[in-house]
Amino acid sequence: MTRQRNLTYLFIILGLMAVGGPSYGKEVIHRQYGPHVHGVAQLNIAQEGETLVLELQSPAINILGFEHYPTTSKQRELVANAIAILQTAPPLFELPSAAACQLQKADVDTPLIGRSRKLVHADIKARYQFQCHSVNSLNSINVNLFRKFPSIKAINVQMLTDKGQSMTRLTAHRTIIDF
Ligand SMILES: [Zn+2]
Repeated sequence: MTRQRNLTYLFIILGLMAVGGPSYGKEVIHRQYGPHVHGVAQLNIAQEGETLVLELQSPAINILGFEHYPTTSKQRELVANAIAILQTAPPLFELPSAAACQLQKADVDTPLIGRSRKLVHADIKARYQFQCHSVNSLNSINVNLFRKFPSIKAINVQMLTDKGQSMTRLTAHRTIIDF
């Protein structure tokens, strides 16, 4: 793929993703992006030139222990803390220091901070954009989400880079994505 295409492709995928999903009240909700399965998160990686984008989507229950509208101050605090943790990408995603990647943007989004109280199976989505000055040294990412959020048991990874497209599945015992 030529430059620009990888990111365009990723944004098309992301545009189809619905945070929260429809309120079917089922354990598994099929979305454009993949099913909402408790214990499983999705990580999309797109790299194009010096730009690296990581997009994480997880059922909120994996991160908070609940995924309905927060009704108590304790629950609101848990949501705010989780957002604060997710906004600091570097401890969650370890990039090779030789790649000289700098975080440029981090956005966390969830309907749990929205107005609608009728939430069933809400998701949390986080998106990170890095600029990697020595992209040739970008050969792996160590994902530290399992330690931080032990309810995440598996992460399905889709990757689209200048080297090609691949998929992998991470667990607490297998946390490194090789490029
Ligand atoms: Zn759910």
